[in-house]
Amino acid sequence: MAKIGFIGLGNMGLPMALNLIKAGHEVVGFDLSKDALEKLGAAGGKSAASTTAACEGCEVIVTMLPAGQHVRGVYTGANGIIANAKGNPLLIDCSTIDVDSARAVTAAAKEKGLDMVDAPVSGGVGGAQGATLTFMVGGEDKAFARAKPYLEQMGKTIVHAGGAGNGQAAKICNNMILGISMLAVSEGFVLAEKLGLDAQKLFDIASKSSGSCWAMVNYCPVPGPVPTSPANRDYAPGFTGAMMLKDMKLSQDAAKSAGAKTEIGAHAAELYEKYADSGNAARDFSGIVQQIRQAK
Ligand code: NAD
Repeated sequence: MAKIGFIGLGNMGLPMALNLIKAGHEVVGFDLSKDALEKLGAAGGKSAASTTAACEGCEVIVTMLPAGQHVRGVYTGANGIIANAKGNPLLIDCSTIDVDSARAVTAAAKEKGLDMVDAPVSGGVGGAQGATLTFMVGGEDKAFARAKPYLEQMGKTIVHAGGAGNGQAAKICNNMILGISMLAVSEGFVLAEKLGLDAQKLFDIASKSSGSCWAMVNYCPVPGPVPTSPANRDYAPGFTGAMMLKDMKLSQDAAKSAGAKTEIGAHAAELYEKYADSGNAARDFSGIVQQIRQAK
């Protein structure tokens, strides 16, 4: 069993850290929020007073932070994890961040001879609690082989997507597809409504036809056809509008940086920005169907 430093104990990080404790590891955590540290302590983890203190003597360090700037700061800041690392700790960043930051941090780790993977997740808070997350992993073979056993204790599906940053690339491309397909499904159901076609009838037909996709079959944006979808609980999340906006923006930054033209992605990002800015940031992203219904 390993000593693991865990930085970032929010909605996702805390349940992930708890699964590592359940697997028998000694977990020492740090978060800027006192509340998060108390919850870790109550569940059998140890809390530290700083990132440096949490990482001291650890064989593995896991981070689950909001965005690229936090990850850069925590790893490559003057008093960061890489500057302070002793021995050969494995670094695992599970945050969803921009590809460029992921590659820059891994390059800094490599310069110091440290193995690092970017390992963003899909599956949400439920997946983090149930240890059923999907991990999309970027990094060298050696780093992936070291990380896999720990990721398996927090998730169910672990995919090596290629070199550094490719985990983030996979996450960003997947979520751009999801953001666009949710808009397509929403437009289809709103058009059906306005044509006098019942939502359940459209679902019964389209879910078995060529228009079928995950956003329709598992997460239908109108109430009724998929009882577990957020549409049936007034769009309580789920996956918030703010999170979808973050990922759509990451996809557009990545497209710019890579010279890819993603015109539909760009328009989708604008629509999610409007949705989040009009008081829906904390509601489920599928509530965007209401914005489409009201559009003139
Ligand atoms: P969160 O805001 O609940 O948690 C982030 C935590 O990081 C907070 O507790 C915050 O205090 C802490 N933090 C920030 N800066 C820090 C620092 N310098 N040192 C120590 N702690 C610091 O966010 P979350 O929902 O847990 O998401 C974390 C990451 O996972 C994000 O990148 C998000 O995009 C990604 N993600 C979230 C979900 C989801 O459904 N919530 C799903 C997939 C991926």
